[in-house]
Amino acid sequence: MRFLHLLATVVCLALAPPPSALVSAFFLPNISSIPPSLLPNVSSDAWNAFRNFSGCHAGERRDGLAKLKNYFNYFGYIPSSPSNFTDDFDDALESAIKTYQRNFNLDPTGQLDDATLKQIVRPRCGNPDIVNGSTAMNSGKEASLNATHFHAVGHYTFFPGTPRWPDGKIDLTYAFLPDNQLPDDAKAVFSRAFQRWSTVTPLTFTATDSYAAADIKIGFFSGDHGDGEPFDGVLGTLAHAFSPPNGRFHLDGEENWVVTGDVTASSLSTAVDMESVAVHEIGHLLGLGHSSVEESIMYPTITSRTRKVDLATDDVQGIQVLYGSNPNYTGSSSTPSTSQERETSDGGGPLTPGPRLAGMAIAAVGLGMLLL
Ligand SMILES: [Zn+2]
Ligand SMILES: [Zn+2]
Repeated sequence: MRFLHLLATVVCLALAPPPSALVSAFFLPNISSIPPSLLPNVSSDAWNAFRNFSGCHAGERRDGLAKLKNYFNYFGYIPSSPSNFTDDFDDALESAIKTYQRNFNLDPTGQLDDATLKQIVRPRCGNPDIVNGSTAMNSGKEASLNATHFHAVGHYTFFPGTPRWPDGKIDLTYAFLPDNQLPDDAKAVFSRAFQRWSTVTPLTFTATDSYAAADIKIGFFSGDHGDGEPFDGVLGTLAHAFSPPNGRFHLDGEENWVVTGDVTASSLSTAVDMESVAVHEIGHLLGLGHSSVEESIMYPTITSRTRKVDLATDDVQGIQVLYGSNPNYTGSSSTPSTSQERETSDGGGPLTPGPRLAGMAIAAVGLGMLLL
């Protein structure tokens, strides 16, 4: 399976370059072994099989529904269960679907309609939407506001207890896992992502070579990497980050990360824009949770071949509640949502490349590509 994936990647890169394309590959060393149990997911979208549940509703029994329950459990929609999940479409699943639909601005039918499944299978952040049963996303606001228009109530959220970096910790350092041996252009992606947050807050971010001493530790990992949050291969979960002051920022080393170039023009349908994901995860590292505002950086999903790097008003307001504003911030760096680069349903939309995009270099992170 692994080699098939690699072959497909190479074929895609070889067959579809535009005439002016400069294709470069970005390799990472094999930093952790991949458990055999995860290999079946490596060559395809981790959640694609969920599309087969279209039309499924309460009272039915379908093979594989237990995996969907695991999905909802992972992201906080079904409480942790000591027993294995069944393939029955039970009340717990229906309730989870309704809550999910509210959080993602969908009609809360409790059924697996096409719009809901389309959202469920989108690649996303591995952080849960609901922590310890509580959420401040749409579903958590609904009861108090009695709102029917979910777009109107959704806004930024925080982790339970509202953790933040302490007042005396304004100047933060970050470092990259030395084993990853990231090239400079990949490191520059993170530098730009940090800059987007420092523009609107008093916080500063400085790279350091001392991984052990850094406040924020950035690493690419594959599969199970020891923190109880295993990565799942291509697409599915893309990255996750811990709340302050933990500082751990992990990315799935098996994604086809685009480091430079126009991700929307990538020939790889699984291409993921690294800066877009980095800006989101840094929001978590600073204390933001997920937002139901689709234009916000802290919205949980991002479609492949999509670039979304500008902080929305929702993100800026949230982070400034925690840290205040940068004295030099005039509000101009927050692009109105109407003109903001935003995600499209299938990643193929005609988005305008950001000003920093240059060339057409596609950087594919594939741990196993070293084997070639
Ligand atoms: Zn997230
Ligand atoms: Zn991790």
